[in-house]
Amino acid sequence: MQSDGQPVSEVFRICPACGAEIEQKAGPFICEKCNYANFFGPVLAVGALIENESGELLLVRRAREPGKGKWGLPGGFVDAGESAEQATAREVHEEVGITIEEFDYMFSGPNLYNYRGIVSPVVDLFFLCRLSAEVQIRLAVDELSEFIWTVPKPEHLDNMAFPSNRRALEFWLEHHSGSGR
Ligand SMILES: [Zn+2]
Repeated sequence: MQSDGQPVSEVFRICPACGAEIEQKAGPFICEKCNYANFFGPVLAVGALIENESGELLLVRRAREPGKGKWGLPGGFVDAGESAEQATAREVHEEVGITIEEFDYMFSGPNLYNYRGIVSPVVDLFFLCRLSAEVQIRLAVDELSEFIWTVPKPEHLDNMAFPSNRRALEFWLEHHSGSGR
């Protein structure tokens, strides 16, 4: 987990409702003046396990922090007003230029996202998409530097940007690799 940096719950010091300055402790933010509360619930992110007809997965190398130079899965944060499925299709299209229509929810896992030293809790939702035709990958070059189709090996598992992505690959290796093909 990316535990360096400060949890968002510990850097929140001004009440956004009334402007009071609060001495923050661990746990939820509760304003002593106006009772505004913020529980710092996790935000949602999605990741796509995209499997080609040869039973290989698409991995992308990240060009930006966090996790610059490491492997990841296409995905990102769910925008307000979006479903997790819509976010998955949108992020996949933005990052690797393909349109996916049919995919299945696999599992979720907790993650931490360190942005500029502030660490926010995240829940990653992973979806599996099995492609039935060949696709042309077009990388978003401002975000990603490389892609590969592979059955993940230790060299990939040990170099994933996020522990939750590694768990997703391990889950896929256990449950899906070679099955139904
Ligand atoms: Zn307040």
